[in-house]
Amino acid sequence: MATSTVEDYIKHIYLKEQALAEGALVSMGELAVALNVVPGTATTMIKTLAEAELVIYEPRSGVRLSESGEKLALHVLRRHRLVELFLVQTLGMDWSEIHEEAEQLEHVISDRLLERIDAVLGHPTVDPHGDPIPSSEGEVKEQKLVPLTDVTEGTSVVIGRISDQDGDFLQFAEQSGLTPGRSVVLSERDAQSGVLALRTEDGATITIALAAAEKIEVKRSFRVHMIKSNS
Ligand SMILES: [Zn+2]
Repeated sequence: MATSTVEDYIKHIYLKEQALAEGALVSMGELAVALNVVPGTATTMIKTLAEAELVIYEPRSGVRLSESGEKLALHVLRRHRLVELFLVQTLGMDWSEIHEEAEQLEHVISDRLLERIDAVLGHPTVDPHGDPIPSSEGEVKEQKLVPLTDVTEGTSVVIGRISDQDGDFLQFAEQSGLTPGRSVVLSERDAQSGVLALRTEDGATITIALAAAEKIEVKRSFRVHMIKSNS
């Protein structure tokens, strides 16, 4: 079994790759920042991971995951995200405090316990933040989401994902009724003062800064006239 350090490197490379074009390399500087280590430490570790064929390392350009590296990353993310959902749904923990717990547990939980949690939760496909949970075969169902800042005035949207795992931000989102699955209408966009006004499901109007709205990803809801959705 990979050590927790190896798993953290692999996971962070995967998360960085998600923001890049297919096959693009993650820069060593960026990776070092994400892992909170000095660049020299990251480079030493990446060379070891390249020898283990978990990554493809191109000196001076960057690094990307090999097929087996990606498999490992998805397995770590499956553990992390199932644990988060378990902590919220079954143990009743606040979603602003579960990320730190999952950061620890993702490295130690056995496959047997994990599959039991998955079954008890009914084989969920998204975690409490709206991030996809990879299947045990490593399949990921990505939702098509856009940042709230990309939505035009008057559009009704469903919140899909909160991309910031910071506890304070999550508390703010929950208190404002901005959690995955909730609908909001973008009622006004004030570019001058840099705020958006939203009408929530409870009929309340809240204003949030554009910087906060960037971290809230949504699905546009479509008006369906004749066709009844069967989902
Ligand atoms: Zn998390």
